[in-house]
Amino acid sequence: MSHQVCLLSGDGIGPEITNVVREIIDAAGVKIEWIPCEAGLGSFEKNGDPLPQETLDKIRSTKLALKGPLATASGTGFRSVNVSLRKELQLYANYRPAKSLKGVPAPFENVDLIVVRENTEGLYSGLEHTVVPGVVESLRVITEAGSRRIAEFAFETARSLGRKRVTCIHKANILKLSDGLFLDTCNKVAKDYPDIQYDDCIVDAAAMKMVLNPHQFDVLVMENLFGDILSDLASGLVGGLGVTPSGNLGTDAAVFEAVHGTAPDIAGKNMANPTALLLSATMMLKHMNEAEAAKKIEASLFSVLEEGKTLTGDLKGSASTTDFAEAIIAKL
Ligand code: NAD
Repeated sequence: MSHQVCLLSGDGIGPEITNVVREIIDAAGVKIEWIPCEAGLGSFEKNGDPLPQETLDKIRSTKLALKGPLATASGTGFRSVNVSLRKELQLYANYRPAKSLKGVPAPFENVDLIVVRENTEGLYSGLEHTVVPGVVESLRVITEAGSRRIAEFAFETARSLGRKRVTCIHKANILKLSDGLFLDTCNKVAKDYPDIQYDDCIVDAAAMKMVLNPHQFDVLVMENLFGDILSDLASGLVGGLGVTPSGNLGTDAAVFEAVHGTAPDIAGKNMANPTALLLSATMMLKHMNEAEAAKKIEASLFSVLEEGKTLTGDLKGSASTTDFAEAIIAKL
């Protein structure tokens, strides 16, 4: 069966890594009709619109997209396309596993964490305004419905993967109303999953515990900003941004992307590590019921990483993006 998948090449290193990931998937024999879609800085410069309606329509129609990183200016300029995509398509769950990979230098071994981040609310609601000159307000929106659906996603994920424990991460001791509601809702949802252990942890303590002993956590669920920060922390535990994948999931569509950004310092140099995007793509293949192809690709990737002969610069090797991809294809 042939699948249709939207391909957003992205900015910076995006085109280089999406090209090789597409080649690897094609070489693994999965029949995909790739539908190119424009977004990001490139689209803004060409069309005056960083997220054209046509791109949203195409993703709504295929329900699936593989996406390279998109550039967003800090402070000024257009609203983050990543945030807009997640809101427009109601991709409410951001799923970020952080798993140790043999051959990838990292501060710990055998880490296996899943960060589940609420993706549409919190401080990313885009509700910011100047109250008076020199004073701005950013509104942190937490709803019971939003908290419930992300908590249910975390427990369903834990159950389907045979994981043992879900931990709610929050700051309800200080943010008594917003995180109080988030924690209270997670506590209620936990009662519907008696087969899965449940506890909670304050976000600052969780950050320290993750750095001291990441093995004490299993599945972590939290609101948007805490999830953004702790999932990058989790990336660092397993070797950095170059190797950490993610999926943005909603009821109507799913967009898979690496956790890292456009890496402007190495863009266009054929130096980027495509591992994070490739693992995001294998996550997408499993979502499309192409688990066998996903496992085949992962086995080749893990073998290349473990051998350590063809690694990109971020993993202390000297191979190019294309050399790395060719080594993976040779093992398929
Ligand atoms: P970044 O993730 O792009 O880069 C941080 C560091 O990690 C850089 O030194 C970079 O070279 C390195 N790095 C990242 N990915 C790599 C890879 N695959 N292989 C090798 N090295 C890699 O973060 P940044 O510099 O803070 O952000 C740059 C731009 O990316 C900004 O415009 C930001 O808004 C955007 N961004 C987009 C996304 C997304 O599209 N999901 C996510 C994060 C940042």
